[in-house]
Amino acid sequence: MTDKAPDRRLLIDGRLSGTAATFASVNPATGAVLGHAPDAGPAEAEAAIAAARNAFDTTSWATDRDLRARCLDQLHGVLVDHKEELRALTITEVGAPHQLTTGAQLEEPIGVVRWYADLLPTYEFSRDLGVHEARGARHHRWVEKEAAGVVAAIIPYNYPNQIALAKLAPALAAGCTVVLKGAPDTPLVTLALGELIAEHTDIPPGVVNVLSSSGAAAGELMTTHKDVDVVTFTGSTATGRRIMAAASGTVKRVFLELGGKSPMVVLDDADLQAVSMMAAFMSCSHAGQGCAICTRLLVPRARHDEIVEMVAGGLAHIPVGDPTDPAVYMGPLISERQRVKVDAMVQRAVADGAKLVCGGERMPGPGFFYKPTLLAGVDPDSEIAQEEVFGPVLSVIPYDDEAEAIRIANNSAYGLSGAVFSASDERAVGVARRIRSGTFSINGGSYFAPDSPFGGYKQSGVGREYGLEGLAEFLETKTFGAVAK
Ligand code: NAD
Repeated sequence: MTDKAPDRRLLIDGRLSGTAATFASVNPATGAVLGHAPDAGPAEAEAAIAAARNAFDTTSWATDRDLRARCLDQLHGVLVDHKEELRALTITEVGAPHQLTTGAQLEEPIGVVRWYADLLPTYEFSRDLGVHEARGARHHRWVEKEAAGVVAAIIPYNYPNQIALAKLAPALAAGCTVVLKGAPDTPLVTLALGELIAEHTDIPPGVVNVLSSSGAAAGELMTTHKDVDVVTFTGSTATGRRIMAAASGTVKRVFLELGGKSPMVVLDDADLQAVSMMAAFMSCSHAGQGCAICTRLLVPRARHDEIVEMVAGGLAHIPVGDPTDPAVYMGPLISERQRVKVDAMVQRAVADGAKLVCGGERMPGPGFFYKPTLLAGVDPDSEIAQEEVFGPVLSVIPYDDEAEAIRIANNSAYGLSGAVFSASDERAVGVARRIRSGTFSINGGSYFAPDSPFGGYKQSGVGREYGLEGLAEFLETKTFGAVAK
């Protein structure tokens, strides 16, 4: 914690403000301090929740769909207009390579705001159930969808724009009011979003509140406060468990997007060269700091060594380095703490019997870079095959037949995503249907788009983000009955 003046401000009840205490945000590519963020504690969280409650209870936000559609449209325009400012911050604070900001780190999420802005005017907020006869009378029933209330949105560091907007856009479309808390490692980019909302949109005071904090106290209050109706959280499964328990005291609706350990299943008739390249590049996307990355490569035992060699060849060609360079594919890990964690897991995997094919060490020089790492002959029950690493580490696991591949794929506490490769789409889909996860890629196909529900089975989460399902997370259902005339 420091007493340096903050470089960005909190947004509470329509006003931008700092705090006396601040904390540093570090550029992970250089290790240098990038700026300082206000360190919100329970007092600021309390004020933000009160503002959101007041805006929900006393203004027309929850019921005025035209206003919401106009504000979402405006927010989309503002994000487009300020894209380059957000891109620069996303690259320097998150360590996201420039090329990733043209996709999932920035430009695609801006498209999500557009999608919900366009959905709102046509979405059916009510459903007629017709007349029902009961106790000698006729009753007309109908269902209306209403905003669920005050939303606490808590996000992780890895894709802060994408995750903030995947929560904010449908919550606002539904008519909710929001307290959004950024991640301790990436506060500035989330505060910048709040500043844009305050300075360039007509979103009424209190409808969106944005906090940054170095510790857990503000977030803890958001998950226990009686005036919060919904908690939407993206982050680790360990924190998700704590939040689910914390929210139970006031029986909040809890929506969780958690960790993953997704399998990529290579069937024996697949194009091994193409799959190996895809596996190499996918495992290094954002230095492996993605929840839906396939980090377990399941291969036919007879082809294991051949595939390992091809993947290692692919990893050797990954451009790693300065994320501001448009030619760079992989940037740094977020922090030294994360690099220590990744390295410790790799060393334990080797001690557990995995073969280190390449990588397995820090890169020299400033910043928190870690070499693309390949582990072969991995035991499917070992820690490295079971636990999320969140680093550029791919584990190759051999299997004997298709049934065993499916068993290994399902041998996980997680169920977020998966991929399967085969010469036959039909065979690939057959395998995908037997693996318990919320999303699946068939022969390199992408499911990720604003209208595609995204979320996990098992301990990867509860609920879905994006698409119609994403809006439903922020709506309550009210059923009416009137005596039929
Ligand atoms: P994290 O769980 O450490 O922190 C996430 C957020 O929770 C932060 O804002 C943190 O301040 C807050 N927090 C921590 N303790 C809290 C508490 N007790 N109460 C309330 N809030 C609290 O996660 P991270 O390290 O920032 O992010 C990486 C994790 O996020 C990975 O596990 C990754 O798989 C997951 N993730 C999941 C998805 C998905 O869509 N499923 C997407 C991105 C990241």
